[in-house]
Amino acid sequence: MNVNQGFPAFFTIDVEEWYQPAVMERYYPRDRWSEQPLRLQEGLLILSDLLDEHGVKATFFCLSNLPKSHHSLLRSLSDMGHEIASHGHSHRSFTGLTTNEIREELMLSRNILQEITGKQVQGFRAPNFSITDETVDLLVETGYRYDSSLFKVRLHRGYGRLERYPVQSTPYMIHPELMEFPLSVLPWGPWQIPWAGGAYFRHFPRSLFLAGVKELVRSGYYHFYIHPWELDTTQPHPNGMRWIDRLRHFRNISRSSSMIGTMLTNHPFGSIAQHLETVTYPVGQFSVA
Ligand SMILES: [Zn+2]
Repeated sequence: MNVNQGFPAFFTIDVEEWYQPAVMERYYPRDRWSEQPLRLQEGLLILSDLLDEHGVKATFFCLSNLPKSHHSLLRSLSDMGHEIASHGHSHRSFTGLTTNEIREELMLSRNILQEITGKQVQGFRAPNFSITDETVDLLVETGYRYDSSLFKVRLHRGYGRLERYPVQSTPYMIHPELMEFPLSVLPWGPWQIPWAGGAYFRHFPRSLFLAGVKELVRSGYYHFYIHPWELDTTQPHPNGMRWIDRLRHFRNISRSSSMIGTMLTNHPFGSIAQHLETVTYPVGQFSVA
């Protein structure tokens, strides 16, 4: 069964400011966030122009603690037909939160985002892909329709783990009342290579990455993600930044927009909400061969 009858590829964006990624916390602690210049619109406008140019709708997983001055940006994305989903409120990793804190993040972020757009928030992506069994329970309890936090990458210490719930690399019912849209990995022998975007999108050779995308789209499911700051070539560089962090955060930012243009030209991307409108899942029975 081909999971994406209408949209073999999903385009998703994690909407946060340039100083909010985990790697930046060492240089810009949370109590200094309010002093930093706001640059979200630099990358966000490049992305929305690229999507518009190719007639593609995307899913934007947004933090709800973004400065209020950004609310109009989110509203206009929603008015353009893009999906606004939740990336939580504070961007704290869910693996370090209590049950009540996770519940609060899920409810607060959805309420704020719904108030901004006037539309229902259906989906969620945990900060740093920090999915846990308890998060799945709480997503069901708080009424989300789908999750998109699962990245089957064993080598990354910060990512979450599931013990009680099944793990797959293509969409499935993770719980009878919740769908999961995992980030893409490319099977290579016994290994699963991260191929969804983010740092991997910037560090792998361009032609190799694009060939892998083509292969995954052809297989029936591809799920891409990126952050607006990954297209912002003039964002500030922190003083005293370690070379490894500099490499991870800034390398190949200048090629992001042209690679995205190529992907949008070559493949039929869409948002998760568009896909949900076209497919009826048999509850509890959905699986991909
Ligand atoms: Zn994030």
